[in-house]
Amino acid sequence: MVTIMPLGGGDEIGASCYLLKVGKTGILLDAGLRPRPQNNMPTFARMFEIVEDWLSINSVLISHPHLDHVGALPKIFERNPEVNIYVPEKSVDLIKIQILESLTKKKKDEKYTEDYPGLEYSIDLVTKCVQKLKPVAPYSPVKIPRTNVSFEFWDAGHILGSASIYINTSKLRLLYTGDISTHNRVSIPNLKYKDFNVDVLLMESTYLATSNEASPSAGFSDLYKKIKAITSTCGNVLIPCFALGKAQDIAKMFVDQNMKEKTPIPLFLDGLVKKVTQVYERVLGKENYKVIGQGKCNLMPKGTREAADLKQFLVNHPGCVILASSGMLYKNSASARWAELLLEDAKSAVFFTGFLDEESPGARLANARKGDDIEINDSRITIKAAVDKFYISTHAPPSGLISIIGRTKPKKIILVHGNNTAQLFHMFKQRAESELGYQLNILQGANFDKIECDN
Ligand SMILES: [Zn+2]
Ligand SMILES: [Zn+2]
Repeated sequence: MVTIMPLGGGDEIGASCYLLKVGKTGILLDAGLRPRPQNNMPTFARMFEIVEDWLSINSVLISHPHLDHVGALPKIFERNPEVNIYVPEKSVDLIKIQILESLTKKKKDEKYTEDYPGLEYSIDLVTKCVQKLKPVAPYSPVKIPRTNVSFEFWDAGHILGSASIYINTSKLRLLYTGDISTHNRVSIPNLKYKDFNVDVLLMESTYLATSNEASPSAGFSDLYKKIKAITSTCGNVLIPCFALGKAQDIAKMFVDQNMKEKTPIPLFLDGLVKKVTQVYERVLGKENYKVIGQGKCNLMPKGTREAADLKQFLVNHPGCVILASSGMLYKNSASARWAELLLEDAKSAVFFTGFLDEESPGARLANARKGDDIEINDSRITIKAAVDKFYISTHAPPSGLISIIGRTKPKKIILVHGNNTAQLFHMFKQRAESELGYQLNILQGANFDKIECDN
């Protein structure tokens, strides 16, 4: 018997962790966090309703290095140091950076945080955990020890080192999409699925209901137009951005556009974006991905940290763009420090491009109006700058999700990694059935639902 139970990420975006029970063996698909200071972990205690203990967890398979998929990994390793941890081969350096930089207490840099506030593992635990990562090349089957289960990673087109996970239990074939993008990508290989049918499709549904299916390049072209309007009057633009994936896409599109312009706009990378972009260049090879030093894109000079340094930088660089993490303006992050200054300048702008957790400072700012007071980085600020949101997605739109269903013809579809209402779910089901021309056995996953896969 094969059972799936979401321990997090069932009907939400964050804490993705899906328990797959095959016979008596437990396999966890992803081990992610919620981007919140409290209640950030998947609810591991609920898994003992269907498996005996931590030692029943044979393996963790990680789809990609975003912290909502990998940030809880050290907790699992702490409870079960013998667990096998399989990761896509190109994700290894990024997983290490993400966990070490964002989730451990740094002695020297206590004033510095990234996208996930509030959680601090010991360096010792994280160091031991990342030593256990087993990198696996795409499309290479791996048999999980002491089971009849094998799996493969397939390119998911989401970020560098992202995979969908195809699992074969000898009786059942299951595809867990992880996060996927069906758009053409500028910085990484496109999604590439083998064409065959599966029994169960566990599919992300971040943009199940969006009416905006624009490609990332169309979204970027809107953003660049607005940036030009601001920088041409010597205002500065901050783009708060997830350090991993979105930032590298935007940097690449920015450099490509700058190369075509008579007056290219200076772009500076700051926060964890700097390190991650360097990993992209190294892992992909500079012939496939190169932005630093190209088309007026540079790393923010070292030592631009205190308010006085930042102010001086802006005086010296009028009309520039700063692409900085965190994407949600968490306290003490590079983006929060820049926002503190730029929001008070009527010539400047803060442009968001990604998901904002509703409890984050970024969401509060995106929902505020000019003239409102807002707290950023412990400062009370009256918003004078322009604030706007742009759609540059690294996730599949509804038509992409429907095309995945059409290609894999699953007997059962479980939607996860979304917070969609029952009404939006039914609208998607109707659209998918009408476009595909047949009825779907599709359900909205929810945390702690026990879903039998065999029937
Ligand atoms: Zn992701
Ligand atoms: Zn995700």
